[in-house]
Amino acid sequence: MSDDSSPGPVTAPSELSGSARLCLACGLCCSGVLSPAAPLLKPGDLTVAARNRLRVVPEEGVFALPCPRLNGTRCETYTDRPTVCGTFRCALLARFEDEGGPIEPHLAAIARTKELLAFAESKGMSFAPGAERKMEASGADAYEMMSTVHELMQRLHTDFVGAETLPDPLKFPAGATEG
Ligand code: SF4
Ligand code: SF4
Repeated sequence: MSDDSSPGPVTAPSELSGSARLCLACGLCCSGVLSPAAPLLKPGDLTVAARNRLRVVPEEGVFALPCPRLNGTRCETYTDRPTVCGTFRCALLARFEDEGGPIEPHLAAIARTKELLAFAESKGMSFAPGAERKMEASGADAYEMMSTVHELMQRLHTDFVGAETLPDPLKFPAGATEG
């Protein structure tokens, strides 16, 4: 979601900043896996979100995730996004930006997390917002699922929580985006 230096659609991977490479390998914060909604933080965010056909809930001051403008891992409306999209940093991205060091371990952590997610989903577990995260497996399958979910939750908690506390959302009257 973050990284103000993220690329345009034709930027070659070798020309990207490290932060952009991480976010383009990821996209989890826009996908709804981490949170069912993202906050509107500034008065103009309501207009931006509505203009870009995000699923706004004005009275709660949020737009719903997964974001309809997420295309794979790329934001289709990168230059015209709500404030939170340019400011959110997960813990993994913040560590990379603040502490430096090689990017490869961070890319590997993202890849491993997505691998675990894909495995759990292949076994019928849904990570969609609002879905009950329950697993149905038995025998060896159950053990594999339990260890998958355990590692996945640890990784989500360690790497993908927000590094900074976001301000409370600005709330707008219900129906504020209509007309
Ligand atoms: S979860 Fe982190 S690394 Fe992934 S897209 Fe969001 S800010 Fe970038
Ligand atoms: S507008 Fe772009 S950056 Fe913001 S949630 Fe949607 S896909 Fe992500």
